[in-house]
Amino acid sequence: MTEVERHRYDVVVIGAGGAGLRAVIEARERGLRVAVVCKSLFGKAHTVMAEGGCAASMGNANPNDNWQVHFRDTMRGGKFLNNWRMAELHAKEAPDRVWELETYGALFDRTADGRISQRNFGGHTYPRLAHVGDRTGLELIRTMQQKIVSLQQEDFAASGDHEARIKVFAECTVTELLKDGDRIAGAFGYHRETGRFALFEAPAVVLATGGIGKSFKVTSNSWEYTGDGHALALRAGARLVNMEFVQFHPTGMVWPPSVKGILVTEGVRGDGGVLKNSDGERFMFGYVPDVFKGQYAESTEEADRWYTDQEANRRTPDLLPRDEVARAINTEVKEGRGSPHGGVFLDIASRLPAEEVRRRLPSMYHQFKELADVDITAEPMEVGPTCHYVMGGIEVDPDTAAASVPGLFAAGECSGGMHGSNRLGGNSLSDLLVFGRRAGLGAADYVEGLTDRPTAAQAAVDAAAATALAPFDPEVGGAPENPYAIQNELQQAMNDLVGIIRRAEEMQQALDTLDRLKARLPNLVVEGHRQFNPGWHLALDLRNMLLVSECVARAALTRTESRGGHTRDDHPVMDSQWRNTLLVCTATDGGVSVERAEQVPMRPDLLELFELPELEKYYTDGELTGHPGRAE
Ligand code: FAD
Repeated sequence: MTEVERHRYDVVVIGAGGAGLRAVIEARERGLRVAVVCKSLFGKAHTVMAEGGCAASMGNANPNDNWQVHFRDTMRGGKFLNNWRMAELHAKEAPDRVWELETYGALFDRTADGRISQRNFGGHTYPRLAHVGDRTGLELIRTMQQKIVSLQQEDFAASGDHEARIKVFAECTVTELLKDGDRIAGAFGYHRETGRFALFEAPAVVLATGGIGKSFKVTSNSWEYTGDGHALALRAGARLVNMEFVQFHPTGMVWPPSVKGILVTEGVRGDGGVLKNSDGERFMFGYVPDVFKGQYAESTEEADRWYTDQEANRRTPDLLPRDEVARAINTEVKEGRGSPHGGVFLDIASRLPAEEVRRRLPSMYHQFKELADVDITAEPMEVGPTCHYVMGGIEVDPDTAAASVPGLFAAGECSGGMHGSNRLGGNSLSDLLVFGRRAGLGAADYVEGLTDRPTAAQAAVDAAAATALAPFDPEVGGAPENPYAIQNELQQAMNDLVGIIRRAEEMQQALDTLDRLKARLPNLVVEGHRQFNPGWHLALDLRNMLLVSECVARAALTRTESRGGHTRDDHPVMDSQWRNTLLVCTATDGGVSVERAEQVPMRPDLLELFELPELEKYYTDGELTGHPGRAE
């Protein structure tokens, strides 16, 4: 029997980003004992990288903003494929979640009259992103950690033990969820530093593990984003939705090669930066798609006036939703109007005084100065699309964040549905706060309603340990495989064959490659010991990366239309017959199956927030027969 450290909690939250921390706070406020387990250092989750801000219709910068406008923008951004109930809850609750952060101690940038300042972002009708310069995610995490420390101090005052009700297990990777019958019974993992195994017995697990970007070669994501939560949920019997929708952010750095993919925040365009091609043309005016016609400025003069007078002018097409801008950049480069290093130009230097650029975008200024030796106050940046965010994720109940497996909950980027086929910038940070809280509540309600506690069988614990140890002593014959080589091939295949523009033959090729890589997995060999061993860590991550990549490729091959973050060269048009179809992935023996499911029709009062002519661009005729506009 393998030696395993054992812990017992009411709720285990896997992930210490925005979603995880907000869930921890809520479950602890309900009086439960909570463990938070995270792969990296506490405070270093991906959320700290969020730059631009957190979308909430507080109406500080424009009093016309309200939840209905935010809801409409979110549904439009997602091309009406969003889970409308999630989009509704998100739009309604985001302002309260931001104000609540202030009560925890967050220090947002202010308007001249002292309210939380809000900035423009793509697809948002009004300036809506609460921000802290271009370091908003850092402030979000700092604030929630501070709140957690204050709760731990309360616990110390009451019990003499700081960790009586919240304990952090940092640098600990969960590799398996454990069940008792069909119910969750806990999670199994290892401490990265020592390699020692840990078992967290708990009736409720909240997955808040973030995204999957590390399966692509060019990405804004860091090493942690290997789709662990997606894969853990799949293997535990949960369903993933919308996996074909991967967001390629239009503006990643393209040069030098060592930093290719690092994000250039949309805040640059929100604050006045414009995209130009090698002819110096502001090309986005030529790329406003039919569904957005009439909503965006048609001349550079109108676009420029919009920054100061939003009532009398329409917004610049530089701030179209990300999928549109990424495709436009792709086309400009392909047609020979790109920048020297294969991107386009993003110019803030000629638009704002140098001092203002440094004040509003301090991280961007330093990022370009240090990494590319470019002074963005004096010359344009070179930018191009980079894999940034996965819209797809664990299917959850919108109100409770419960997955289909009893005791399993999910929130944040690893959950699916909220953003439909394309996420608007800023809508992730607000999503983390709204649904992180709901996941904490959902888990607390679930635990309090239990009459008996599930237990993890020793055999399952032993099996999880054996799987984790396999790369030290592979059983299967064949040439030994290096995890870095497999990772490299995976990233290249996903980037080239299931990237920003997709074709059936290429996706089939990707699936064949994934099959070959999967067959090589049992031959993975790692050298050395269990003490901090990055090769071993990667070997364990690869199992998840391959499984989740297969979901992306299979779902993308199945959806024969283009919508949001899924663009098919061979099916270039958005097809209303596909609008209410969700592709649902489940794990099969050794693979993934993709099935179609129908979206629940939108509640009539929400449907009526849209004008009929707009809905007609997305919906089939049959779906709109009940719309009051049709009765007139
Ligand atoms: P994360 O913050 O990524 O946290 C995941 C946690 O899970 C980490 O603690 C990790 O260690 C842990 N974890 C993962 N796997 C395991 C495992 N197996 N075992 C244990 N722990 C595990 N969104 C916005 O709304 N506005 C922005 O301005 C913005 N800017 C961005 C800028 C960049 C550069 C990037 C990359 C993203 C940006 N986003 C932005 C998106 C947003 O930051 C993310 O979607 C969001 O932070 C995800 O939060 P999360 O809580 O779901 O996960």
